[in-house]
Amino acid sequence: MRATRLAAVAAGTLLLAPACGSSGPGSVADRKSLVIGVKADQPGLGRRGPDGVYTGFDVDVAVYVAGRLGVPRSRLRFRTTNSSVREAALAAGDVDLIFATYSITARRKKAVTFAGPYYVAHQDTLVRPGAAIRDVRDLKGKRICEVTGSNSWRRVVEEREIAATPVTAPTYGACMDDLAAGRLDAVSTDDLILAGFAAGRGGKIINAPFTDEKYGVGLRKGDLEGCEAVNRALTRMYQDGTAGRLLDKWFGDSGLKLTTSVPQFEGCT
Ligand code: GLU
Repeated sequence: MRATRLAAVAAGTLLLAPACGSSGPGSVADRKSLVIGVKADQPGLGRRGPDGVYTGFDVDVAVYVAGRLGVPRSRLRFRTTNSSVREAALAAGDVDLIFATYSITARRKKAVTFAGPYYVAHQDTLVRPGAAIRDVRDLKGKRICEVTGSNSWRRVVEEREIAATPVTAPTYGACMDDLAAGRLDAVSTDDLILAGFAAGRGGKIINAPFTDEKYGVGLRKGDLEGCEAVNRALTRMYQDGTAGRLLDKWFGDSGLKLTTSVPQFEGCT
């Protein structure tokens, strides 16, 4: 009896022990340094340059949010986190926060706590110039890109039940290579991603958006304190004009209609 009670007290102490280190358990709200998961080959969002420096809208939003959490740029480390590894990277503590065109979905909410969204993108489709694809329904019988771990192909094949042929690729940069090489007929994904590629590599965005992609900040499942702190930072980012400035900086020339009011938050769960 006595031993049981002691064990219970010991267990309670462990649960209450403050976290140290940058990727142990504990809230991201209390860190001195942070590891941030971003994309590496999505221009305008998350791209790693030849010098190893990451740039893009997601990177700038991450720097702003981390700053509001009390962690300066000099104490941030960025880590390439492709679509296929996002949930596992958070669960393993390889990254503390993810800013990587990461749509909040019911399926992912089971494994991840999401702050935000910090932006709502819309899925659209990029084709080679002259292609006769004008709407998502025209993807029937066409080869589309399936980035492993990404949700975009599901939006077409599962949600819309359009009988396209998904062809797997590791990243959206690889999809663009496959489209250029004729191994694909279309790349259907978030308009921000497509706009970033189209600016440098050409291709035609058909301008037939058909979803809301709520870009969330991924946190380890259960870090509600961190999630609330990130939401406060995101609210501030819109109120102080930073969101509008960053959207204009990265996508001002894209022709996309950019929304500069704070999105409706999902709530931290
Ligand atoms: N936003 C979509 C998703 O989270 C597509 C982009 C991506 O995979 O990063 O699945």
